[in-house]
Order: sequence, then C-alpha cells, then structure tokens
Amino acid sequence: MTVLSVRDLWVTYQTQGGPVPAVRGVDFDVDRGEVLGLAGESGCGKSTIAGAILRLLPDGTKVDGQVLLNGEDVLTMKVGRLRAVRWQEASIIFQGALHGLNPVQRVGDQVKEAILIHYPDRKDVDARVAELLEQVGLPGRRARDYPHELSGGQRQRVMIAMALACDPDLVIADEPTTALDVMVQAQVLGLLSRLQRDLGLAMIFITHDLSVLVDVCDRIAVMYAGKFMETGPASDVFNSPIHPYTKSLAAAFPEIGDTKYRMAPTGLGGDPPDPQHIPSGCPFHPRCPEAFDECSKREPEMYPAGEGRRAACLLVEPARVGGSVSE
Ligand code: SF4
Repeated sequence: MTVLSVRDLWVTYQTQGGPVPAVRGVDFDVDRGEVLGLAGESGCGKSTIAGAILRLLPDGTKVDGQVLLNGEDVLTMKVGRLRAVRWQEASIIFQGALHGLNPVQRVGDQVKEAILIHYPDRKDVDARVAELLEQVGLPGRRARDYPHELSGGQRQRVMIAMALACDPDLVIADEPTTALDVMVQAQVLGLLSRLQRDLGLAMIFITHDLSVLVDVCDRIAVMYAGKFMETGPASDVFNSPIHPYTKSLAAAFPEIGDTKYRMAPTGLGGDPPDPQHIPSGCPFHPRCPEAFDECSKREPEMYPAGEGRRAACLLVEPARVGGSVSE
C-alpha cells in the first residue's frame, strides 16, 4: 500500500538575492514497510524534500506539485488538518538531537507533550512514555533526565521515541546519525532498522553517505542540483552504479580491502553547483569524468536503466543505447 506519493515537486526559496530553486521536479512513492534512501551532497535538495512533505519550510517558499500522504495532498491541507497529520501520520527525526530537544525540560515530558497534543485525554500517557523509551533501548526511568544528562546516542533515541509517539505511518529520518560517532551510529542505525521492520513503517532515510543507505534501505534515489540522478534497488545502486555521479559517491566510501572502487586522489573534483546558476544541459557536466560535447547542451531525462532502475544520463538514453544517436 502506498503511504506517500510525491508528484512533480518543485521547491524554490525566496532570498534577498532572488529565487533559489532547491528541488526541481521530483517524483517518487514510498510504500508501507518500505525504506527509501535519499543521497547526495549538501545542498542537493534532499532535506528540502523532507521539509516540503511536512510543510516545515520557511514562509514564502514556493512549493508546487503534489505530496499525497495516505491519498491526501499535504500541500493544500488547512492548518488544522496539517497539525493533526504531523506526528500521527508522518513524523521526522532531525540530525542534531541536542538542538531538537528543549534543554530545560525533562525528556519524558517532551515525549509526553507530543502525545498529549493529539490525545489530550489519554490517561496512560506516563506508561506510554516509558514504553516508548524501552522500545528505543532506554530504561523508562530515564524519562526524568534532562537532555544534558544523556549521551548523544541516547538523545537521538529520545528523538526516535518522539517520532514514534503517535504511531505514524511515515517516518522521515533526516541525517539521524551524522552527528554521532561511528559505534553509536551503528547502534542507532540498527535500532531504526529494527523498529521500521517491526512496525511496518514507511521511511525516508536521508544522508550524504551512500554506504549507510545500502544497509537500511530498499531503494535509493541519488540527488544532484535538486533532481534525481539515479534511482533503483539499494544494493544495485551501490554495488553497480550507472550514473557517473553515483559512481563518484560510491567511490568516496570504499571499504577496507575493496578492489572495486579506487578513490580519486582528490575525490570528486569541483563543487556542487550554485542553485541560482545551474549549468546548462546535464547539471553534472562540469564535474563529470565521462562528459562529452552534448552533455552541456541537452538535459537528460530519467531513462529506464535496467530492472527497477532509472538514470538521468545521456549515456543511457534509449536512442543512444540503441545506437541511433551519434555524438
Ligand atoms: Fe556525465 Fe553527460 Fe551523463 Fe551528465 S549526461 S552524467 S555529463 S555523461
């Protein structure tokens, strides 16, 4: 069953320097029990998609398209309905738990608040808070702690408990482990995966680290300059990337003893494009090691590129693969 259906989503920030397009025509679905990973460098638009789904973007931001959550368009919802939908149908786990939690309020009270907003008459709320904390691997008594009394990993567990407090259908995890050290990162990832499976959640997992996504996601969408560059089953995208940008991302996280990828001595050259001055043609062409003349003139669409896979690269354009397009 499809929980989230995003169609032709465009997001443009309004700044003093003029409009800044951050997401440019993105389509995807997330089914119940499925995890979609969004990958890409900072500024590619992946967190903007999360903000658009829950309407958390700054006032004045122009958002076009459709965001159907359980069949209802979030973008046209009245404010009262939107408040009901947040936490109950879709929730979000942010990157920095220290900033996401109120430093002068006990963590249990913060989880309780999320529940009472939606279920003000709930009598067993303290028991529910303890249950949620236990579910994320914290003893119920830690509800009395303040955020500074918890480690970074424990605070992130509290954020996960808050996200689950009202039994949402969709959870968006926006760089949930980026601020954690490697050991704690593995524990939190394991916890998220287990909860997602046990609760049958639809989940969007956002990170710049492609190697993290391969372990937790069913499908991956790789973003660049506000667009999808490649989509497909997680292990296929990571182990046999098609798009030159995905190849560069995968090569940036070689495993010890890996002979498949050789990291370029300087990594991927150049910087992500300025969203106000996106290059003509393929937006990746100034940095692409496989670019050819046509790449600066014509923007590729998302072409079919194998079972369940698509890629926005002229190299896999059907006419070219079929041999009828000359360079
Ligand atoms: Fe590289 Fe050209 Fe493909 Fe863009 S279209 S990714 S520049 S080969």
